Amino acid sequence: MGKRQFKFLLESNLFKLAKWLRFLGHDVKMLKGKINTKVLIANQDRIFITTSRKWEDWLKKARIDYLVIPRHDWKLQVCMVLKHFGLEFHLLLNKCAHCGSKLTVADKERFRNIIPTRAYETAYDFTYCSNCGALFWKGTHYEGMKRVLEEIKFKC
Ligand SMILES: [Zn+2]
Repeated sequence: MGKRQFKFLLESNLFKLAKWLRFLGHDVKMLKGKINTKVLIANQDRIFITTSRKWEDWLKKARIDYLVIPRHDWKLQVCMVLKHFGLEFHLLLNKCAHCGSKLTVADKERFRNIIPTRAYETAYDFTYCSNCGALFWKGTHYEGMKRVLEEIKFKC
């Protein structure tokens, strides 16, 4: 089965959902402030994810793809987006969780002074974001993330 990659535009309060969609390898852009038509039109190539029904008529008229999701439960939000677009429950971890830029493989020796000792000793697959400088690795939290994703999938 081919991997389906979507481009999303998310309302500014959906940062947790943004993080998870990025974990799954999707192209996620977040609104900086309130929803406005200018920004929506400028990002017409993206699917707009919102918690508000207020813009539905306008979005339809503007022919912008969108999905309305509940405001609070982020796990339900993740579930709804993945189900709705038929996306895989699979962690790709190829995009920065903070800014969405593509991650590159990092040599852990080069970052030794900023990696916590425990992570340096036990973690693997270090990656680096050249856009915002964030460093990522797989370790105990990675197992936790996989469990959370399984849990979301199971309840979904
Ligand atoms: Zn980044």
